[in-house]
Amino acid sequence: MNTQNSNFQAPELYEESFRNSVGTMDETGRRKWVYPRKPKGKFTNYRDYVTYLLLVIFFTLPFVKINHNPFLLFNVIDRKFFIFGQPFYLQDFFILALGAVTSVIFVMLFTVVFGRIFCGWLCPQTIFMEGVFRKIEYWIEGDRNKQMKLDRQEWNSEKIRKRLTKWSVYAVISVVITNFMFMYIVGYEEVFRIITEGPAENPLKFLAMICFTSAFYFVFSWLREQVCTLVCPYGRLQGVLIDKQTINVYYDFKRGENRSKWKKDEDRKAVGKGDCIDCNQCVVVCPTGIDIRNGQQLECVNCTACIDACDEIMVKVGLPKGLIRYATEAEIENQEKFKFTGRMKATTVILTLLIGFLGFLMYDRGSMEAKFIKPAGSTFFIKNGKITNTFIYTLLNKSNEKKTLTIKVLNPKNAEINFFGNEKIILKGDQILKGNINISFPEKEIRFSKQNMTIGVFDEKGNLVDSFETVFEGPFQLVL
Ligand code: SF4
Ligand code: SF4
Repeated sequence: MNTQNSNFQAPELYEESFRNSVGTMDETGRRKWVYPRKPKGKFTNYRDYVTYLLLVIFFTLPFVKINHNPFLLFNVIDRKFFIFGQPFYLQDFFILALGAVTSVIFVMLFTVVFGRIFCGWLCPQTIFMEGVFRKIEYWIEGDRNKQMKLDRQEWNSEKIRKRLTKWSVYAVISVVITNFMFMYIVGYEEVFRIITEGPAENPLKFLAMICFTSAFYFVFSWLREQVCTLVCPYGRLQGVLIDKQTINVYYDFKRGENRSKWKKDEDRKAVGKGDCIDCNQCVVVCPTGIDIRNGQQLECVNCTACIDACDEIMVKVGLPKGLIRYATEAEIENQEKFKFTGRMKATTVILTLLIGFLGFLMYDRGSMEAKFIKPAGSTFFIKNGKITNTFIYTLLNKSNEKKTLTIKVLNPKNAEINFFGNEKIILKGDQILKGNINISFPEKEIRFSKQNMTIGVFDEKGNLVDSFETVFEGPFQLVL
């Protein structure tokens, strides 16, 4: 499973055996636990800032409302959906479907050019694993060497204390994540209500919370990097999405090889040595347990930890930074500097347009939706020289404001509408209303047995807020 980009020209001196197994398994198939060294450096700092920002957003958004609507809500149970405070109904699902297709195109284009930047910087798995759970592990158990020592030592008081503390904190954070995830599904008010009322009143909901808490706990305490290396379908797609022009974290093998240990005051170039001093720091810092010097691998989540580790070493030995860096494979092969190429610019423009298109789809849904359907089996009737059809209307107010609506036939002309009551229809915000109307035309107006008709819905200011195309039925007439 340890797969390389097929274009990558591995230097001959590389050991190729790494291809035969997953980096986190030994030859017997047993898992090799990864103890990544705590990363530090410029990229780690930037990633920390992004992580904190995303965590603040994640823990804040459930409380944000726009016009009394939740900013984001995906209530699949009650089929209530809000995106950016805009309600979405089943009627709008074509937009979500289009949005999903647009998102897939976006992700593919993005990956072709920018590689796995999403995995390292934005993916919730990485954010919580590296930004929260791993940091707690460093805090309680110490860095890589201390963790390995603790793992090897017998279950004495120190190990019991540290492990119990870590597992308890992990459990509490898993509970918190589950509660916030539920807020995105049922809203924070409902989550607070469930918590206040207790498990006896809400046994199924508490059971669901326990299941999700256990899943999060399992993923972040045990499964960890295996989510990225074995489970995540996006990770599996990398082999077909990236090429020589894709930006990724690369080891500059042209500069780094022939790798060999550091000797003080040695002119490495003169003796034919590359800049890699084979210190292994890029390997021990890697959270997915791989050696980036073997080339691009599916397991690499572009977390940049190896860039920082190598840069630190390069500074210490007085060599230029960037032996491991963000680059394209072509740049490494041709020893070029990073360029924002025409392809990257074009893709960025397309990605921006796609985001714009998604935004347009979301906002251009109108605040009303009207449907006029004939009752099953109904047909026309003629009385006092007028042909009449009955319609069931469904009016959906997608806004938060109360609306006073009227219905008018836009064409053909001279329609009369019987509302069976008040012709002003009052619709509260976020309300669906159904009712019956009879639409009549003078007999001479209807020249076809099926006459196209447009019905308009107007607000209190007389603005047309939605229209619906349907068919008015009449008797068969021979038109000459
Ligand atoms: S190889 Fe480097 S960038 Fe890739 S996962 Fe490992 S440490 Fe992160
Ligand atoms: S950290 Fe840099 S110098 Fe050290 S082994 Fe990795 S690539 Fe070579």
